[in-house]
Amino acid sequence: MKNTLYLRPQSLAEAQAMLAAHPQAQALAGGQSLLAAMKLGLCHPTHWVDLQDLQELRRITLQADHLWIGAMVTHAQVARHADVKAWCPMLAQLAAGIADPQIRHVGTLGGSVANNDPAACWPAGVLAARATLVTTEREIAADDFFQGLFTTALRPQELILGLKFPASTCGHYLKFEQPASRFALVGVAVIRDHHGGVRVAATGLGHGVVRWHQAEQALGERWEVHALNDLDPHAHPALSDVHASAAYRQHLMAVLCRRAVAQLTGQAPGMPRAPAHAAAHRLSSTRDHIQDAHALKGEHVLQAPLVRVWQALLDPTVLQASIPGCTAMRLVSLHQYQATVKVGLGPVSAKFDTSVQLTPELEPTGNAQHAQCALHMTGQAGALGSGQAQVLVRLHQEGANTRLYWTAHPQLQGTLAQLGNRLVHASAQRLSEQFFERFAQVLLGEAPRRGIPVLFYALWQPLRHWWQHFFKK
Ligand SMILES: Cc1cc2nc3c(=O)[nH]c(=O)nc-3n(C[C@H](O)[C@H](O)[C@H](O)COP(=O)(O)OP(=O)(O)OC[C@H]3O[C@@H](n4cnc5c(N)ncnc54)[C@H](O)[C@@H]3O)c2cc1C
Repeated sequence: MKNTLYLRPQSLAEAQAMLAAHPQAQALAGGQSLLAAMKLGLCHPTHWVDLQDLQELRRITLQADHLWIGAMVTHAQVARHADVKAWCPMLAQLAAGIADPQIRHVGTLGGSVANNDPAACWPAGVLAARATLVTTEREIAADDFFQGLFTTALRPQELILGLKFPASTCGHYLKFEQPASRFALVGVAVIRDHHGGVRVAATGLGHGVVRWHQAEQALGERWEVHALNDLDPHAHPALSDVHASAAYRQHLMAVLCRRAVAQLTGQAPGMPRAPAHAAAHRLSSTRDHIQDAHALKGEHVLQAPLVRVWQALLDPTVLQASIPGCTAMRLVSLHQYQATVKVGLGPVSAKFDTSVQLTPELEPTGNAQHAQCALHMTGQAGALGSGQAQVLVRLHQEGANTRLYWTAHPQLQGTLAQLGNRLVHASAQRLSEQFFERFAQVLLGEAPRRGIPVLFYALWQPLRHWWQHFFKK
């Protein structure tokens, strides 16, 4: 374990100079996420640059056209501040519901949004409120800031100074809590501006905070609960895990949105319309729920004939180019590869030794319209444990194109197994999607875009849940 040096700047300029002098340094706010990640060996900053003495980041001030909340303001301070309650009570209400008093007194607004946990409350409030993030380099609209699981528009060494919250007429945040941590299984923030425009942001669905545009449009046209009656929340992407199916999360989003609007309009919330047949089936079937929770799946239409796709699948150079973060790959024996996958995001980087075994199960012969191939993958993530995935890839010729279906069943061992949860699946789902997106690009002869190193998420998220439980013991 490397030593991390503790630096405590007394001014913003000093903090910036420290970060510039030490490229592997990491800003430290309340340490609620960062220190736990370090304890678990997920990140190794050379220095902490503790922001706690920067008084300019600790202010809450009311300006003519916005409320300013500094990045180092704690949740507890937001929750009790009179100006916050007067300007946008929803922000105070949201902050008061975060975790428990200990965490609320050290966790900060800036740390929460910089972390962008996909189950955190602040991202939903900030996105719904149409806030602007002010950093040491620029101003970033909330719509551009949150970029998926633990990913934001922040550049290395860029610090959030604070957030500007514009005026609104009313707003409300509701979450269905994870009992252990009080993180949101799903949380919904609804805010209405002075022109009747409505913004609805949901957290906890899976890939990070998102807006529910259909609800916004419906409520913008008709500011009442019934405006939501005809919407299908199941059309909105969501993820399943051992805690809840995607369909249940979508249903929760609809229920919470109705309740939030009901709270703001004084109407009865009622219940969302019965879900569509397929979704209703998923909702009602516990067995399906469990199966769904453990299976990842997706499909892609590839602009190439089936035989070409098949050849590419068995081509190690294509595989190497398609695996996000793959730095080396060598052929061990026919259809068996050894790969090194290096991933990193923000403070975290990790190296995985991965073995991939391909088994052609149905080879395309003659004018075959179908083909099928199984992949068995094992990965070793050092002290964190190991994982395997069984992946089944089915190909169907569709005219000049090929439709590729994949399903994957990941399994974890060691520390990772104890920590496993839906966001391991979210991460694995993202990773798989990236793989097939890159595969499609390589197939078309394009260089794949630099992928987001999503294996990071597969580690990070379960660890977060672990320490939540740990702290609750
Ligand atoms: C048990 C538990 C339960 C929780 N429950 C909830 C909940 O119900 N809802 C919820 O929303 N949250 C919840 N949280 C999250 C918590 O409230 C914190 O907001 C979050 O962990 C961030 O912590 P922090 O402010 O201490 O930031 P740190 O951990 O210090 O930093 C987090 C990240 O942000 C970066 N960072 C910090 N400040 C800045 C800045 N000014 N500019 C740029 N980067 C910065 C750091 O470098 C680091 O990468 C919970 C946390 C725990 C441990």
